[in-house]
Amino acid sequence: MTPFLQEHEMFRRSLRELVGREIAPHALEWEAAGALPRELFRKLGEPGFLGVRLSEAHGGSGLDFWSTAVLVQELVRCGSIGVAVSVLAHAEFATKVIDRAGTDELKELFVGPAAAGERIGALAVTEPDAGSDVGAIRTRAVRDGGDYVVNGTKTFITNGSIADFATTAVRTGGPGHRGISLVVIPTDAPGFRKSQRLRKIGCHASDTAELSFEDCRVPARYLVGPEHGGFKLIMQGFEGERLVLALICCQQMRLMWEEARRYGHERKAFGQPLLGFQVWRHRLADALTSIEAAEALTYRAIDLYVRGEPCNQEISMAKLFAAEASVGVAHGCAQIFGGNRYMEEYAIGRLQRDSLAFSVGAGTSEVMREIIARTSGLEPREGAR
Ligand SMILES: Cc1cc2nc3c(=O)[nH]c(=O)nc-3n(C[C@H](O)[C@H](O)[C@H](O)COP(=O)(O)OP(=O)(O)OC[C@H]3O[C@@H](n4cnc5c(N)ncnc54)[C@H](O)[C@@H]3O)c2cc1C
Repeated sequence: MTPFLQEHEMFRRSLRELVGREIAPHALEWEAAGALPRELFRKLGEPGFLGVRLSEAHGGSGLDFWSTAVLVQELVRCGSIGVAVSVLAHAEFATKVIDRAGTDELKELFVGPAAAGERIGALAVTEPDAGSDVGAIRTRAVRDGGDYVVNGTKTFITNGSIADFATTAVRTGGPGHRGISLVVIPTDAPGFRKSQRLRKIGCHASDTAELSFEDCRVPARYLVGPEHGGFKLIMQGFEGERLVLALICCQQMRLMWEEARRYGHERKAFGQPLLGFQVWRHRLADALTSIEAAEALTYRAIDLYVRGEPCNQEISMAKLFAAEASVGVAHGCAQIFGGNRYMEEYAIGRLQRDSLAFSVGAGTSEVMREIIARTSGLEPREGAR
């Protein structure tokens, strides 16, 4: 049974048309360029595709996460995973938290223009010495009159080189997670520096950069939520981000599976199509079973999330399973291509490389397992030896 309602399917149809017309024909160009063009954000913003989950008062449509799921699924169909990564890093990761916890002024300045695709956002949490351990970040923001003065470095930041603002985790207080705040820093603020794009092995259409702040001044009123309340906001934001990545993995697996099935019917060896060999029918049957299982876990987590129920464990399971499954499915689907799996002109090799990012981004598989362990009574009991 599909969880999508008629309104979601209408949204899907208009988005699919735009993806076919404006995105799929250019996806490989953007893969080669290493980033999306700014115009794409405007083209997606104008009909309302970037603001699906943002509040109506600030240019969004106020829809639920199922609409975000449609957005992810249809963007991935263009064949470039980087397109979905970059668009969702902007609309969901960088902007949703401002919409949820920012002041009206911040929403006017950043949420409205982000929904319209006029200002591009990035979420900047990870640092060279602090990734999984968000509570260890060192980028410091010190109050000076009406400003914060920010010093530090962020790395692996999606949209880092094309962003107009970075929703940034900074240390405003003491050590640990209680000293962290979130602040929106416009990328033209004095002292804000972007590195060259980092050279990745996949997801090429989404650019990734290092950001540094050298006595970078930002108005203190650009704080999102309460001072020292950033850790909680980041953790809440991770729920949506992890669901997005689980959805990307599911749809990417479907793309790879369809490619493998097509090739298996067309390519002949020893006088018969490859799918004439039981080994390939079984391998693709296993792959399809993994895809269905990943999607079922992901849809269950989304259902709980949309209904506002506690779902940290279910989201972690969905992200863990989908990310790990996509690596296995990618290998199985690529192998049927023989030597062609290793050739750039075949999408399968690119999709396989892209699949490696998802057991790391928005929390690694090990971090997901830790959350599942913690929420299911697996931690050692006090006093146990
Ligand atoms: C393509 C890409 C895009 C990204 N985009 C963004 C972005 O837009 N914004 C952003 O802020 N960050 C982004 N990141 C960074 C990403 O969130 C981090 O890479 C991730 O959180 C892991 O941090 P780390 O790389 O520092 O690894 P580390 O934290 O150093 O971990 C290294 C290894 O140790 C393991 N490990 C760590 N702690 C534990 C533990 N307690 N128990 C067991 N194992 C552990 C990890 O699972 C991992 O295998 C991106 C990363 C990639 C690859």
